[in-house]
Amino acid sequence: MKAALALSLDAKTAIIAHLPMKTFIDERQINNLIKKAEKPPRQAAERIIVKALQLKGLTPAEAAVLLAAKDKKVLTQLFRAARTVKEAIYGKRLVLFAPLYTTNFCVNDCLYCGFRSGNTLLTRRRLTIPEIKAEVRLLEKEGHKRILLVAGEDPKTANVTFLLKAIKEIYATRAGKGEIRRLNVNIAPLSVADFRRLKKSKIGTFQLFQETYHQPTYKTMHIRGPKADYRYRLYGMHRAMEAGIDDVGIGVLFGLYDFKFEALALLYHALELEKEFGAGPHTISVPRIEPAVGAPLSLNPPFQVTDEDFKKVVAVLRLAVPYTGIILSTRESAKMRNELFALGISQISAGSRTNPGGYSAGKHNAEQFSLHDSRSLLQVIKDISQLGYSPSFCTACYRLGRVGHDFMDLAKPGLIKQYCLPNSLLTFQEYLLDYGDKEAKKLGKKVIAKHLAGVKNKKLLLSKLKNLEAGKRDLYY
Ligand code: SAM
Ligand code: SF4
Repeated sequence: MKAALALSLDAKTAIIAHLPMKTFIDERQINNLIKKAEKPPRQAAERIIVKALQLKGLTPAEAAVLLAAKDKKVLTQLFRAARTVKEAIYGKRLVLFAPLYTTNFCVNDCLYCGFRSGNTLLTRRRLTIPEIKAEVRLLEKEGHKRILLVAGEDPKTANVTFLLKAIKEIYATRAGKGEIRRLNVNIAPLSVADFRRLKKSKIGTFQLFQETYHQPTYKTMHIRGPKADYRYRLYGMHRAMEAGIDDVGIGVLFGLYDFKFEALALLYHALELEKEFGAGPHTISVPRIEPAVGAPLSLNPPFQVTDEDFKKVVAVLRLAVPYTGIILSTRESAKMRNELFALGISQISAGSRTNPGGYSAGKHNAEQFSLHDSRSLLQVIKDISQLGYSPSFCTACYRLGRVGHDFMDLAKPGLIKQYCLPNSLLTFQEYLLDYGDKEAKKLGKKVIAKHLAGVKNKKLLLSKLKNLEAGKRDLYY
């Protein structure tokens, strides 16, 4: 950690609260990059794409040129390069997880969200610990190993102590052969002291989306509650990393403001974390606004992102930060998801519900927003197998301490693939043995055989696969 950060970030935040709103997001600089990139010659974009294929990432100025691309030929090259970079770094595998909504009570009033405090149409619910455990058991019975815990912000009904208890109980819950091996969280930003408590509870990634990096837009979207403080949220990841949380996941809610501005701001955020802590974000999430009951803004987002532009954003992020995972949720349709996998997505949710208690009770009006991909986990697994991907439930890096810095040291030179692909095959095999039906097993056998060819130490992997068949579980490198 840098000496400049020796002063606690809580104290720093309190001090800088009185200073003008200058942050590492320089709106003028970002706007200049966008303006300069408006009419780039085709060769400029092509040169940048060639550079990206060296897996060294892109500067925000270079990313701005690609984000401005409209030429069909350039876009085809961009998409092809994104696919090459993704496969070079991670191999052809997709990590699967499910969100677990614990409470939809919220003191904030984010205009786009169904959980906003002003929404009187929503049935409010906070799950009890036994209810959370019941949800976890259902997810485990489906075969999930990775959960993303999600919560509205409400210090009265779901404070940090409650969330920590929930995390402990989730890790302790077992259903048959099922267990949760990595729990990521997407909750409101905390103080350094509370982040330290969260770190102790052995979470995987701490996710926090800035929603929009554009301050004037942020102000109009967040009209009440602690989330109205742009800067407190912006520096949330600094506090998390100061507290020792190595893997953080940033994101924006696409549709609130210009997608080019947001994509470049994400890159500046990544650069800032790398500069201050020596490691950029572990993941970037790319949610697009979906309709939510009681949140009229979500029906007509001010900067709706078209499918074509959205694909461009994913591809440019993949090239710009090649070592960072990109997460896609079931907000997107199956068709769109299939297209985006090829462009650089490395993690996806599957079989999701966005209402607390949704796995036990099914769909009802307590949803945060509506989903476009309602396939079960099993169906998603069959479909992605058919596309040639290996589904992965791998949790090895986090459990072996390959996080933050250490993860990036492996990811940057492209070495992480040596772990990701074999581990995806091992976890896929385990899934097929415990939860697969006849069709999945048939498809899975083909996928595993095909990917085995690309694995370095095949003999070792084959012996581990055999051990799984003999009844061993949770094998990884
Ligand atoms: N309450 C915490 C917060 O706001 O950071 C964490 C949980 S919040 C439920 C998770 C994310 O849902 C938000 O960060 C936001 O990006 C996303 N979200 C909210 N409303 C949405 C909508 N209508 N469509 C898609 N995503 C939405
Ligand atoms: Fe609450 Fe988060 Fe929804 Fe905002 S986005 S209303 S903070 S749950």
